Amino acid sequence: MSKYVPDIISHRWVIIASSRLSRPEEVSSKKQKKTKKKPCVFCENNEKLSSTEVYRVGKGKINEPGWKVRVISNKYPITDYHEIVIHSPDHEKNIEDLSKQQVGHILLAYRERFRFYRKLGQVLIFCNNGEQAGASMQHPHSQLVVIPSQINLDTLAKEPINNVVSDTESFISYCPDFSQWPYEVWIAPKDGTGKYADLTDTQLEEMAEILQGLIKQLKKIYTSHKISNIPFAYNYYIYPGHNWYLRIIPRFVYRAGFELGTGLNVNVVDPSEAALELRGIESKIIGVLSKLKGKI
Ligand SMILES: [Zn+2]
Repeated sequence: MSKYVPDIISHRWVIIASSRLSRPEEVSSKKQKKTKKKPCVFCENNEKLSSTEVYRVGKGKINEPGWKVRVISNKYPITDYHEIVIHSPDHEKNIEDLSKQQVGHILLAYRERFRFYRKLGQVLIFCNNGEQAGASMQHPHSQLVVIPSQINLDTLAKEPINNVVSDTESFISYCPDFSQWPYEVWIAPKDGTGKYADLTDTQLEEMAEILQGLIKQLKKIYTSHKISNIPFAYNYYIYPGHNWYLRIIPRFVYRAGFELGTGLNVNVVDPSEAALELRGIESKIIGVLSKLKGKI
């Protein structure tokens, strides 16, 4: 069981979840190479080794192969309801490597589990991709947690739309003026009244293409210019409430003492220039990247 502890002065909450301590540290450990490799419990044909399956996209019986996306309960929960969305049976392929259809299946699994839990609390869906972004299992996956409604979340409200990267039938993607991270990019529905769970199947397909396109472009920017020695990593999360958005945070830089001590974030890339680069307008790239290189 997780415990919610209020910090009376800051009005923030802390979750005490000691069961997290025992979770495996698969990606980080250099010791791993010396020890015998354990089978990946998220891989196809290892279904029986994982915790309880609660949902799947695709064929096959529960805890058997045939699935395209598989959702299981988390053995090391942060909150009382905590699930893992396994992106595909493939151990290596990230969002940027999968087919567009498969990314659509992932977004479908998010929506179905969000719908399942929406009456029980605030449903937060997030993805940590890469060690620098906090992933402890290499097999690409996302997570879903349900936080009781009475707990105030400190999640950002939707930022005004500026620095547009793409504009399609139902969505806009953009780099907000108040971006806290270099190349941070948001996807928001044009009709912002509902929650993520209200999306239609057609909208999921449209969004899959945008999400994958942005991550591909971020990787291109990152790898072609060798911004730092951190392997390409990113987080994204879906705002749990109304007027929702999906926020992608590429981990091109470390956060350090200044940010931790002040709560002020230093963003070395102007969001208007980041948006141009994400649109594939390369003329500005050299100027932007040279600024970034000098700072890290
Ligand atoms: Zn695997």
